[in-house]
Amino acid sequence: MERKYQILIVDDAEINRSMLADILTDQYQILEAGDGREALSILEAKHAEISLVLLDIIMPEMNGFEVLSAMDENGWMDNVPVIMISAETSSTYIDRAYDMGAADYISRPFDEKTIRRRARNTIMLYAKQKMLEEMVTEQIVEKERNNSLMVEILSNIVEFRNGESGLHVLHIRKITELLLRHLAKMTDRYYLTDAKIALIVNVSPLHDIGKISIPEEILNKPGKLTPEEFEVMKTHSVIGARILENAPGRQKEELVQVAHDICRWHHERYDGGGYPDGLKGDDIPIAAQVVALADVYDALTNERIYKPAYPHDKAMEMIQNGECGAFSPLLLQCLAEVGPQILKEIGKSESGQSGAPQTYVMPTQLPGGGKASSRTLALLEQERTKFQFFASMSREILFEYSMDTELLTISDWGSHHLGLSELIAHPRYHKGLQTIFSANDFDDLYSRIKNASPEDPIVSAAYALNIDGQWRWHKVFARPLWTGTENPVMTGAIGKFTDIHEERMQLETFRQRATQDSLTGLSNHLSARELTEGVLAEGSAEKGALLLLDIDLFKAANDRHGHMFGDCVLKEVARLIAKSVRKGDIAARIGGDEFLIFTNYRSEAEPIVRRIYKAISGVYEGFEISVSMGVAVCPQDGKSYEQLFHRADQALYTAKKRGRRQYCFYDSTAESAISVLSPVESDMENQDGPVSPST
Ligand code: GH3
Ligand code: MG
Repeated sequence: MERKYQILIVDDAEINRSMLADILTDQYQILEAGDGREALSILEAKHAEISLVLLDIIMPEMNGFEVLSAMDENGWMDNVPVIMISAETSSTYIDRAYDMGAADYISRPFDEKTIRRRARNTIMLYAKQKMLEEMVTEQIVEKERNNSLMVEILSNIVEFRNGESGLHVLHIRKITELLLRHLAKMTDRYYLTDAKIALIVNVSPLHDIGKISIPEEILNKPGKLTPEEFEVMKTHSVIGARILENAPGRQKEELVQVAHDICRWHHERYDGGGYPDGLKGDDIPIAAQVVALADVYDALTNERIYKPAYPHDKAMEMIQNGECGAFSPLLLQCLAEVGPQILKEIGKSESGQSGAPQTYVMPTQLPGGGKASSRTLALLEQERTKFQFFASMSREILFEYSMDTELLTISDWGSHHLGLSELIAHPRYHKGLQTIFSANDFDDLYSRIKNASPEDPIVSAAYALNIDGQWRWHKVFARPLWTGTENPVMTGAIGKFTDIHEERMQLETFRQRATQDSLTGLSNHLSARELTEGVLAEGSAEKGALLLLDIDLFKAANDRHGHMFGDCVLKEVARLIAKSVRKGDIAARIGGDEFLIFTNYRSEAEPIVRRIYKAISGVYEGFEISVSMGVAVCPQDGKSYEQLFHRADQALYTAKKRGRRQYCFYDSTAESAISVLSPVESDMENQDGPVSPST
């Protein structure tokens, strides 16, 4: 089978990785990393097999440039070309990428052809270079290959006689290799160079070669061997070693020596409990220790004539418990750590798909004609769910139109509002739609969208929609969708219709909410201030009075009858205030039990203030309502809101101090307040007459 080149895609956005994978997966084997660190760990393990890295620049934690420099430090850049893919088009980014050794730079958005072409060119260029290098080492490799071929033929003869499939040979090789590679990382005690590992792996299948001399009845006996039979069986290790010792003129070759050690000692155990020599600890050559462990694992996990196959976990447990004899603690740790990988690799070779590229089921056409994997579809579906969620929150008619399928999709709320279904085929000719949105308007909008350019993609217009027999003006914002960048092709459009009247009403409600006190419906403090400042600025407040009111002993209302009752008292006071002021006056609740009134007077402030004051008293459900009030007048007490407010507040303070149930005017000379009136006193006086200061 032709080998597929491997491409590593590094991007933090899964959708970007998935899209690139979709474009390349039919020609290449795809690996993916979601961030720089992951990319480096994949490269660490597989840089020799990876033919190209597609690298995003902007990524959290470790960006593309950092990945490049780490690759450089590890010396991987010579063999693994990198194409940077980024939305950044500034020359600083591009120059930096090339300076750091990137082979190419592709800006986003890209089209399928660009990606395919540049990936191919880059891979081919590097492959050619590699080929030249490989030719040099070819001869060495050739020799190795011959050796391992012979080993395999020999070991297969044994396997055949043993009634085992050739798989045992492959398994022993694989497990031995995994264990040795990991062991080399754990310790340098055994001088396990790459060459040494390769050698041990190659000869590992020879471990049972001595079985060639074991009689058929013993070798293939179902059930347990008798002690005598077992003694015969045990001789296979010594016989195997002897076969190799007798290899004419070859005894000095390392390959033969290692094979000898494995044959003779692969049944020794770390505690001296094995055979034939009862070697202990590291007196047993490491090659024999490792092959012994691999042999035990493979024997446990495969059916033998005398036993069933145990599952991986069970086999691991039995080995760790010492049920198959003692192994070096380091090797047991090594086995535990590569266990998952063994399971993965062996599992794969059994089902015959080792090294096969990940294939995606359910290829489906994308609008542009490309294939979408089920993962891309799942991601798109997720995007769709997000879109639908936001659409369902919005009281706007959102739509999406696909030119390929001539399908118009209307948002949930929108379709409900219009009384149409969510999916409309051939909308231009849809009767229901035409009664709502005239064919002329449809054509007009369609041609505007078609004429939009990528530089200025947003189209806005206004059309009347007939909703429930009423023509209502709607604002439309829409834009075309394109694929490709070199020759963009329009594939559809998206947009929204907003009811202009409805929008204004909403704005108005919003504005009101922002300026109103929610409990009483009077203005809030901010709004009162703005309104008053407006009047003062106009100069129409030549004779204006700012009144600050605070309910007397209001806490008692809360304390005695609860907070809800307190709220009702506040509403009642607000009602009395609203009733007492004239149109054009400003009335607000400025917080807690404090209120503000700004009013104009003709000649004198006093009568107006007095009238208002008297209006704001009464009894609410047994609670006697009275207020204290401070008054500042314009222009004497100040011309700005701040001055007036401050002085009215001082006057209010005086009113409270003097025993509540009264109003006070700010007194500029005494820095205090004058003109006090209590409702009790006022009742005794002539109600229409002028109020005289009581102090
Ligand atoms: P004074 O005559 O000195 O003003 O005495 P008072 O009891 O009215 O005291 P004060 O004005 O300091 O108390 C205001 C109280 O109003 C304090 C707080 O618990 C209460 N309050 C503030 N906002 C609200 C509200 O929105 N609802 C209710 N029910 N009570 C509120
Ligand atoms: Mg109060």
